[in-house]
Amino acid sequence: MSELLTERPPFTEPHVAPRQWEYVRDALENGKLDGNGPYTKQAAAVVRRVTGAAEALLTPSCTHALEMAAIALDIEPGDEVIVPAFSYAPTACAFALRGAKLVFVDSHPDTLNVRADHIAAAVTDRTKAIVVLHYAGVPCEMDPIMAVAREHGLPVVEDSAQAFGSTYRGRPTGSFGRFAALSFHATKNVHCAKGGALLVNDPADIDRAKIIQDRGTDRHHYFQGLVKEYQWVDLGSSSMLNELLAALLAAQLETFDEVQARRGHWWNTYDATLPGWARDNGVATPYIPAHTNHSAHLYYLVLPTEDAKDALLDHLARRGLTATIHYLALHDTPAGRRFGRRGPGGCAVAEALPRRLIRLPMHVGMAADYQRRVIEAITDFRP
Ligand SMILES: *Cc1c(COP(=O)(O)O)cnc(C)c1O
Repeated sequence: MSELLTERPPFTEPHVAPRQWEYVRDALENGKLDGNGPYTKQAAAVVRRVTGAAEALLTPSCTHALEMAAIALDIEPGDEVIVPAFSYAPTACAFALRGAKLVFVDSHPDTLNVRADHIAAAVTDRTKAIVVLHYAGVPCEMDPIMAVAREHGLPVVEDSAQAFGSTYRGRPTGSFGRFAALSFHATKNVHCAKGGALLVNDPADIDRAKIIQDRGTDRHHYFQGLVKEYQWVDLGSSSMLNELLAALLAAQLETFDEVQARRGHWWNTYDATLPGWARDNGVATPYIPAHTNHSAHLYYLVLPTEDAKDALLDHLARRGLTATIHYLALHDTPAGRRFGRRGPGGCAVAEALPRRLIRLPMHVGMAADYQRRVIEAITDFRP
């Protein structure tokens, strides 16, 4: 009997790139360990090429990148920041850390991405920024969102943690906002164990972003010979990715096209086999707007009720298969209540749909046989 039938395979497994050991060893031997070495430059060049960003600063996580954006936008106590109710804690926490009051806005029921009309309704004269999340790597409706931002003169920050490689009307996600944040966490398509990047789209922001990344010092001016000594000039933190992890990331990025193709294959296989069963049983599958390309980061199902979602998770577990839930609405959390409020449109979709959502196992090295078993188990299930 196959091992697959007796062991419960992991929900996700980090991708292994062929040259990652070689690059990490080389970085260790080179001795420039703290960051901004040759592997950082190599990885950042790929990130810029994929996203079209003016600058890509590699960070220890996506969370660090969001926190840098909040500092760069001079968010202060009393400011309001509009954030998606359906998102991950750091999307909101990075701005609450600066003292902002969060205003949570709802999602479209089809993509679970934040709605431009709810953003528009949430703008007040204290609003300082708009944050969006490209859920599952499916781009938000950036044209109407950017129109609202332009009308009110507000900067946009894209949480692009799941959307590296996605495009909206042919343009990369992460290139619309003044800043965007990427994640290279082990669960993401390409990774360096834990890492991220701040994308800077306005060249005028690059210098200060580098200061914020380097403990609030102008050390990069010193390295360029622009100043005789470097000093503390601004707010900042220690937010540079170290060179060992940059080496791992550089090796991973060399396999980016292959990673995307393989994830795309798993994603398309789910999407070719599940919708018939889904329609018959009142289950929703991901909706991909025709004018977008997505990163195949995750495949999810929205069951008709929360009980049906729990029953499907149990059903899969009994067959030795792992599926998992995702974010619950942020405004309904202890910190969300403390640091924010719902926008005027309410958050009905973010309150209801995530409680009925499960994510299916998907990673680059997943076995076809395993995916077949997942699909068979799901299509045997009646909510
Ligand atoms: C993964 C993820 C993050 C956090 O990434 P880290 O690199 O772990 O900080 C933030 N936002 C979203 C939407 C994510 O999926």
